[in-house]
Amino acid sequence: MKHFNIAALAGDGIGPEVMREAIKVLRVTERKFGFALNITEAPVGWAGIDAAGKALPEATLALCKSSDSILFGSVGLPDRDPTIPKEERPERAALLRIRKEFGLFANLRPVKLPQALAHACPLAKERQGEGIDILVVRELTGGMYFGQPKKTDDLGAGVFRAIDTMVYTTPEIERIAHVAFQAARLRRKKLTSIDKANVLENGILWREVVTRVGKNYADVTLDHMFVDNGAMQLMLRPTQFDVMLCENMFGDILSDEAAALGGSLGMLPSASLGATNGGNTFGFYEPAGGTAPDIAGKNLANPIAQILSAALMLRHSFGLNEAAVAIESAVAKAINDGNRTGDIFSATESGAKRVGTHEMGDAITAAI
Ligand code: NAD
Repeated sequence: MKHFNIAALAGDGIGPEVMREAIKVLRVTERKFGFALNITEAPVGWAGIDAAGKALPEATLALCKSSDSILFGSVGLPDRDPTIPKEERPERAALLRIRKEFGLFANLRPVKLPQALAHACPLAKERQGEGIDILVVRELTGGMYFGQPKKTDDLGAGVFRAIDTMVYTTPEIERIAHVAFQAARLRRKKLTSIDKANVLENGILWREVVTRVGKNYADVTLDHMFVDNGAMQLMLRPTQFDVMLCENMFGDILSDEAAALGGSLGMLPSASLGATNGGNTFGFYEPAGGTAPDIAGKNLANPIAQILSAALMLRHSFGLNEAAVAIESAVAKAINDGNRTGDIFSATESGAKRVGTHEMGDAITAAI
């Protein structure tokens, strides 16, 4: 039997409530598909500060290092102790530290709008076609956000000059391209690579390298699109996209634009992947949203983003695609059966019943 070690870090706000439902779903999936998950919970965020004086306690970091992947809730409570310096607050001290520590270079953000939730999408129904189903793959450690030089010069006489530098090397483009092609293979086998090859040197290199890597994936159809057109096409005809591959900054912008099509933050999972060792890809899996302090502790949060993050972990870190599909199908069934947490509820939708966090978790568990 296959064994996997998971560090489950629920964090703050709605984190513990949605994590509980995700673990419940994982337990049922594990029994059904015959693998073993060793899930160990540990504090992070304000929960870490309260338990051990640090947003990422040493024991929590040690647990992550000895695990095959991290299932993360979310951290940060804007109203807690404003005197704590920025670098010690959970968003930086926990999240950024983990990203750096584990070399997470690939961010995967799937956006899937079930037809039953057409009303929650800002686009007109006719633009949604058979349903929107896009995976944005974003390079996470290179490009403009990290390139040097990065500085602001004082040119005198009140004039300043800000410099950011966009830098990519071929190995950086190759490794993210492989992640995107492999993800496309598990989906509809279509990859759209986003660049700005008409203006940027980086865009020319990006296009060349992605095209070369694509020769190894003859079963995946590759096309290229300029980023400005990509942003427009997401609004005009989102159903043309399967996987979108982007460098860091373009991916930052387009993944949020695509996320708006998904209906609610409570539905959107994400995966950040590091290196692959011996067949296992270390990954960090979390909902796209934050700690939602406005609804925390009230059984109101939508647990689907956390549950779908767990499905991504099974697929991308453990190679358990069938089990991941089972969870995703169970989510679709729970939605099609009319279960709605507050964020996706509409009083005008016939057959919809308003449910809490637990009840949504129960409906998904029952459907597996
Ligand atoms: P948020 O994502 O927590 O909330 C924005 C809105 O979306 C709120 O109305 C919230 O109720 C709703 N929402 C989010 N997730 C939901 C869910 N699962 N079900 C139903 N509704 C949901 O963003 P915010 O209010 O800007 O931030 C709150 C805190 O979370 C801040 O401290 C912020 O720094 C932190 N944050 C953490 C992460 C992370 O840990 N990765 C990400 C974003 C924000």
